[in-house]
Amino acid sequence: MEPGGFSPRVTNPESRTMRTPFLAANWKMFKTVDQTVAYLHEFCALAADVAGAEIVVAPPFTALRAAAEVTRGTNVGIAAQDCYWEREGAFTGEVSAAMIKDAGAGYVIIGHSERRRLFGDTDDWVNRKLNAVLANDLTPIVCIGETLEERDANQTLAVLDRQIEAAIAGLTHAQIGSLVIAYEPVWAIGTGRNATPAQAGEAHAHIRARLRGAFGQAAADACHLLYGGSVKPENIKDLMALEDVDGALVGGASLTAASFFAIVTGAVSSV
Ligand code: PEP
Repeated sequence: MEPGGFSPRVTNPESRTMRTPFLAANWKMFKTVDQTVAYLHEFCALAADVAGAEIVVAPPFTALRAAAEVTRGTNVGIAAQDCYWEREGAFTGEVSAAMIKDAGAGYVIIGHSERRRLFGDTDDWVNRKLNAVLANDLTPIVCIGETLEERDANQTLAVLDRQIEAAIAGLTHAQIGSLVIAYEPVWAIGTGRNATPAQAGEAHAHIRARLRGAFGQAAADACHLLYGGSVKPENIKDLMALEDVDGALVGGASLTAASFFAIVTGAVSSV
């Protein structure tokens, strides 16, 4: 453990920037239980020899238990795509972090732009969900990112500041080190248009600097920053070459095992 109390995901303690590559597949509302099991059998066989990467797949809630069973004892973790902050109660349609943990998942995506845009998730909700996830010893993957209008209005960094500040309000230094934050420009999600290396590099460096300013070097260095938005096997290496990009949150290109595996190997071979 570091003095801050967290176990940073660092491959090489000599180098502050050598965080273990982290690749997460966000399936959104795709795949039945049978399709999930078939994919994971194929993917786990492909990825069995991959070392030095944290690999996570996020199926729909209905397939979490089956996914956790198929991946038990493998190098592939399972994430939920959202959660509710209460443990249980009269909240029709919601699923708590405790239930997600009980289903066998180890991670939860929070604040995805589709949740914010289509279902009304606010910065405050993201904070509540994040606290619930941490309280259940799950790893949060917190999504932030600007819309095209906000980028065109030169508000990108201000939007990221607002989203980060609200999401992590009240967290301890130790909790910051265990976070995974995904920078996902909304205009790049599912559009085939990804941020240029300069745009992604600027946003990631800004997020890291912001965390460093608020929580210190060790916590900021331990935190994983993912890029998300039309990541493909063809562009993963350029993204991973950026100093503050530690991995990717992948939507469309993660829906076939071969394509997600190509992204994983591309990421691992570029560090
Ligand atoms: C996502 O769903 O988080 C995402 C980045 O999607 P895509 O890779 O399809 O742009």
